[in-house]
Amino acid sequence: MNDLANLYAYIDAHLSDAIADVTRLCRLPTVSARGEALPETAQTVASMLRDLGFSVQLIPTSTGRALVVVGALRGASDFTLLFYNHYDVQPPEPLDLWTSPPFEPEVRDGRLYGRGVNDDKGELCARIAAIRALLNTGRHLPISVKFCIEGEEEIGSPGLDKFVREHKDLLAADACIWEGASVNWHGEPMITLGVKGILYVELEARGPNRDVHSSMATVVPNPAWRLVWALSTLKNQAEEITIEGFYDQVRTPLPLEVSAAHRLPDESGELRQSLGLQQLVLGLSGTEARERDLFAPTCNICGLSAGYEGPGAKTVLPAVARAKLDFRLVPDQRPEDILAKLRRHLDSHGFSDITVIPVDMGENPARTPIDAPFVNIVAQAAREAYGVEPLLTPTMIGSGPMYSFTDFLGLPTASAGIGYPDARIHSPNENLRLSDLAAGIKHLATIVVRLGETGRS
Ligand SMILES: [Zn+2]
Repeated sequence: MNDLANLYAYIDAHLSDAIADVTRLCRLPTVSARGEALPETAQTVASMLRDLGFSVQLIPTSTGRALVVVGALRGASDFTLLFYNHYDVQPPEPLDLWTSPPFEPEVRDGRLYGRGVNDDKGELCARIAAIRALLNTGRHLPISVKFCIEGEEEIGSPGLDKFVREHKDLLAADACIWEGASVNWHGEPMITLGVKGILYVELEARGPNRDVHSSMATVVPNPAWRLVWALSTLKNQAEEITIEGFYDQVRTPLPLEVSAAHRLPDESGELRQSLGLQQLVLGLSGTEARERDLFAPTCNICGLSAGYEGPGAKTVLPAVARAKLDFRLVPDQRPEDILAKLRRHLDSHGFSDITVIPVDMGENPARTPIDAPFVNIVAQAAREAYGVEPLLTPTMIGSGPMYSFTDFLGLPTASAGIGYPDARIHSPNENLRLSDLAAGIKHLATIVVRLGETGRS
């Protein structure tokens, strides 16, 4: 392991270079929600990659909001690892809750504070630092490396899916490291292998052409009742989603995925306590709650509105009632299929009068099988870099634009990164522990070294 000792010594000795990179990027207020500083950040990222010898292209997405920075550097083997990152950040407000200004990064007590120091500029700089360490410790880069760095992630990556589809050859690779990851409170690195998909719809029921006096409820149909009756057919009190065919495409988790889920700490008690709940859904706790959390799809009512909602009484029969629903989907469900099944379900239950309006295009779920050889390499590299056993998480419970990488580009995808539970991403005082930065860079560099030895995904 002498090779790694040299590499790790270099990374420790040059940590200040990585901190300088993060600081340089985080001085740019790249708030995509407001379209701020996007071109100059893309150019800065491009020049950082060019300094390492990458060939770099800056390509706009179809939304025209931001450039995608695509970099490529050939190594000793054709095996290509693609890093997905983003250079945009969330708005820093509320500003008065920051101890130091969000776009003036500052080190205090072993932590770097500033917007983006973790999510995701810090993660990006850790990858750059890993490549630099490999190049400067006298070896060729053992494998080829590409970067795909977008500037629209914090507004939902509206242009990314199309971008990936239109640049398949440019992004062609053998495996992908996702935008970031973190250690837990015990210092165990968490490697995540998937995302859930999402379908978001609005249901609308219409009654009379205007609100009318509630005494007319004898003869005038009330759309709020129509909507409630329709909603009650979507899910029963055993928490089963009763849309015909809803579960047809659900992939049974692999036994290894289930056992990985069981290894994750049981946080159901803390969750109940922090939310002030007597019990979770179906009274679940422990591994049962964890399994459902990771592997079950949802049908959730996000909002429900009709008629008078102000203080006191107003005797009214509303003209319209609306509900917003989201469905978190698991492999291999598809938003367009669930949308069609929802429509058919409502029609067959006598609710063809209820309009279903898709609120956005939806997102497919994605999950890299836990027994993929690439996952094994990422996990083994974590053991070497952190000196502890990593926790493999089969999927995040949230959604993200991973599907076009896993399924369209065909890349096994795993996360690796520099975060920790109190990094406060998206919040005031976002911070990065410098010890996590060093360990994360070592992990990333080790992944590249080990991929160079096995050369397979
Ligand atoms: Zn973010």
